[in-house]
Amino acid sequence: MSGAELDFDLVVLGGGSGGLAAAFRAAGHGARVALLEPGDLGGTCVNAGCVPKKAMWLAAQIAGRIEMAAQLGFEVGAPKLDWPEFITHRQRYIAGIHASYRRRLDAAGIVTVASRGRLVDASTIECEDGVRLRAAHVLVATGGRPQRPSIEGAGLGLVSDDFFHFNAAPARVAVVGGGYIGVELAGLLRLLGSEVEMFVRGPRLLGSFDRELVERLQENYRQSGITLHLDHDVGSLARGEGDRVRVDGGGEGFDAVLLATGRVPNTDGLGLEAAGVDTDDTGHVRVDARQDTSADGVHAVGDVTGRVALTPVAIAAARRLMDRLFGGVADARLDYDDIATVLFSHPPLGTVGLTAERAREIHGDDVHEYRADFRDMLHALADMPQRSLFKLVCTGAQRRVVGIHLLGEGADEILQGFAVALKKGIILDDLRDTVAIHPTSAEEVVLMN
Ligand SMILES: Cc1cc2nc3c(=O)[nH]c(=O)nc-3n(C[C@H](O)[C@H](O)[C@H](O)COP(=O)(O)OP(=O)(O)OC[C@H]3O[C@@H](n4cnc5c(N)ncnc54)[C@H](O)[C@@H]3O)c2cc1C
Repeated sequence: MSGAELDFDLVVLGGGSGGLAAAFRAAGHGARVALLEPGDLGGTCVNAGCVPKKAMWLAAQIAGRIEMAAQLGFEVGAPKLDWPEFITHRQRYIAGIHASYRRRLDAAGIVTVASRGRLVDASTIECEDGVRLRAAHVLVATGGRPQRPSIEGAGLGLVSDDFFHFNAAPARVAVVGGGYIGVELAGLLRLLGSEVEMFVRGPRLLGSFDRELVERLQENYRQSGITLHLDHDVGSLARGEGDRVRVDGGGEGFDAVLLATGRVPNTDGLGLEAAGVDTDDTGHVRVDARQDTSADGVHAVGDVTGRVALTPVAIAAARRLMDRLFGGVADARLDYDDIATVLFSHPPLGTVGLTAERAREIHGDDVHEYRADFRDMLHALADMPQRSLFKLVCTGAQRRVVGIHLLGEGADEILQGFAVALKKGIILDDLRDTVAIHPTSAEEVVLMN
């Protein structure tokens, strides 16, 4: 079939972070684009991930600040959130994002279809009503969903998607899992008034993050009243008294058990086999460095590929792919190294580059760590125990900065600029030659010895 006979240049499966970015970028290059999305525009990030999570995190930060204000002499009562009212604000904000996407899709002339899609072959997509679309390129950007562990009674637990339907803080919550979603939900629920216990299979939270920072975060969580059950492999959930759910080995029952035990890719019924698209052992779509799958003309980005599962990563990969396919940039591809990320814990934890452990695996003994261990000014003023810990990991005689790890208030906003510097290959003296901004927490990064 010749190009002119095809219905579209690109059909995108999934209107989440990656799919939308791809559709907009391709249309910007003049491609004829169709986008299939059976749910709300924006996918996980906008509807059940980054955005509503950050809104709840901000509410929790405010609760923490109200407690601090009381400590500092302000006349305020104990923080008490009217959840339905806050959720109205949160959902209004999200509705604004939906409306903005809708406007932009229309303006770009992108055909949107409110349907799931299935690959019939590498260039044919079938919608739920049987309509078939043909395209020179197909992008699989179908994301993922929460996975329940295969334990007895798993159905009694809730997953992160359910959390976004809460309209009050449950009195007693168990969080199963010590990954970033579990840590974030536990932290914010505690500040919003829940009693929280975390059940973590391994000896610590957040396996891949800097060990010292994680230990400090664990200390902060314990100080805030969160009970950590480490090395605790939950074997079953069972009904307790009333509506409560019991976790084996977890004492009395909980009003909610949140299972933050990983995510699986949305590949069921996608027709990948029919189109000749390979998946790996965990069901993720296999892609090469250019986001190409094993089938000609079929590409994939975002969580469905099992690479770094973050919104800006899905977006960046999608844009570069579209620049290559339709924008004439033959070598466009995403560099997956040194991607900065922030964990919205309390306080937040930001990280970019190598941990010291990983740096030693690569560079041997020629790895040097620098740290700043301090109380930020507000916590010091309020005489509250929370301490920040910032770390640099450097290598070689020149002390090239290969890792920046920040735990403390403001880390979420501080890291981005330093991530640019790390990516540009700075050395320790570049930081030391930079005059500090005083008094801030950020200045600790340029003052480290
Ligand atoms: C609780 C939580 C918090 C998070 N917080 C952050 C954060 O703070 N920062 C960050 O960067 N990332 C965060 N993430 C991760 C981020 O949400 C994902 O990395 C991002 O959404 C991935 O984008 P995507 O385009 O790959 O998939 P998604 O955004 O999941 O979009 C996939 C879309 O495909 C659709 N779809 C599925 N099957 C089909 C089909 N057959 N046909 C057509 N469409 C289909 C789905 O309905 C969905 O809308 C968080 C995730 C969770 C769960």
